Amino acid sequence: KGTKQTPHIVILPAPGMGHLIPLVEFAKQFVHHHDFSITFTIPTDGSPTNAQKEVLDSLPKSIDTIFLSPVNLDDLSKDTNVETRIYLTISHSLSSLRNAFEVLTATAPIAALVVDLFGSDALDVAKEFNIPSYIFLPSTAMLLSLYLHLPKLDEMHSCEYRDLHEPLKLPGCVPLHGRDLMDPIQDRQNKVYTWTLYHSKRFRLADGILLNSFTDMEPGAIKSLKEGGDSSVPPIYPVGPLIQNGSRNGADVSGCLNWLNNQPIGSVLFVSFGSGGALSWEQLNELALGLELSKQRFLWVVKSPNTTYLGAHATEEDPLMFLPDGFLGRTKGRGLVVHSWAPQIQVLRHASTGGFLTHCGWNSILESVVHGVPLIAWPLFAEQKMNAVMMVEDLKVALRPKAEKNGIIKRLEIAKVVKCLMEGDEGKRTRKMMRMLKDSATKVLSEEGSSRKSLSEVARKWKSQV
Ligand code: UDP
Repeated sequence: KGTKQTPHIVILPAPGMGHLIPLVEFAKQFVHHHDFSITFTIPTDGSPTNAQKEVLDSLPKSIDTIFLSPVNLDDLSKDTNVETRIYLTISHSLSSLRNAFEVLTATAPIAALVVDLFGSDALDVAKEFNIPSYIFLPSTAMLLSLYLHLPKLDEMHSCEYRDLHEPLKLPGCVPLHGRDLMDPIQDRQNKVYTWTLYHSKRFRLADGILLNSFTDMEPGAIKSLKEGGDSSVPPIYPVGPLIQNGSRNGADVSGCLNWLNNQPIGSVLFVSFGSGGALSWEQLNELALGLELSKQRFLWVVKSPNTTYLGAHATEEDPLMFLPDGFLGRTKGRGLVVHSWAPQIQVLRHASTGGFLTHCGWNSILESVVHGVPLIAWPLFAEQKMNAVMMVEDLKVALRPKAEKNGIIKRLEIAKVVKCLMEGDEGKRTRKMMRMLKDSATKVLSEEGSSRKSLSEVARKWKSQV
């Protein structure tokens, strides 16, 4: 490893699967198409999770892993939010990252460091070693634009963004209401706001920013970032859609693929809120009754209410016991409910799947785009509301149910939107738009496609470093 013929890069993902998965796919591109060797340096605030280990163990030989010394966050109060924990995990890992760099550079030069959007502190370590550094944003150009504008927004406004009367117009993006902006900036008194602002200023220190998005999906936003005339914005490389191929999902433990085999083509709505999304008990109940009322077929990954993101406090209870009385019996045959996890890629790829009710995590959206499955947008946290607005209002590949004033989406509204997507005229239009987006997604990663070209451009740059 690390000889002159194979340039070597180091990747630092933020804790959590939603960040590791796209970075692993990114790494594979460099191994398969550009003959790189790669070291993942993994920061944690405990021991690595089984899911992490499973992904890292399945990697090709030229991708290595170093687990950085676990940091101790015991002093943080229980209500510290997840983004703050991630920022602190990374900033407390810098000395062990430095050690890793010393060991690695002793055998071969490092051509570049790639960090996640939460890892901008690590750019300083790369500087110390004279190594170029890049940020990989596993999300949209719209989100990047928000990060880059945040310092200015912070100066311009003193109220909470959700109280702004006018929607925000980020260059080349669909207008966004303040209430739909990402969670970490919704409470200006919270520490996470200060952290986010601090890191957003540091984005400009990178030698380049890679995006898991592509030109046809966000033409306006990407053009504005690239050609906006702001010379302090680093070069932007849209390299998406990079999604997992699903091979590690393994056996059909829950039996859902087998069940899908016996359903009519395009008839099933897949319902899932990602690796960490959970609903309140009341909302879980409404969703169940809404699915029942819709009379449509569904495959629903149910999690216990109050399970929190990253599973930190995941309850061990059987989630099925939270469903309404008699629900399973009444929907038997038409609906399948599985416990906590489904092989999502295989489900989206399956011909029987005709729609996806999603929490709008960016990986889930890209996976649906690649497989041409239209969406019902049900955002929960992080930047998911921004993603939902883009899917519904800009790209028109999703429908969005309306919530009541108290935030709950009621069963009748759910039933209406589900029916509409699966058999209504608006559903037909949405499906058609999604098919077109799917075709573009295939093109951008083909030999002459724009994302493949961006990847090659970056590879060329990094090779010239060695
Ligand atoms: N995933 C899966 N099965 C599940 C839930 C999630 O395979 O039951 C995968 C999904 O395919 C995606 C990732 O986990 O690759 C979730 O990432 P996303 O960005 O959508 O949401 P997050 O989990 O980060 O909120």
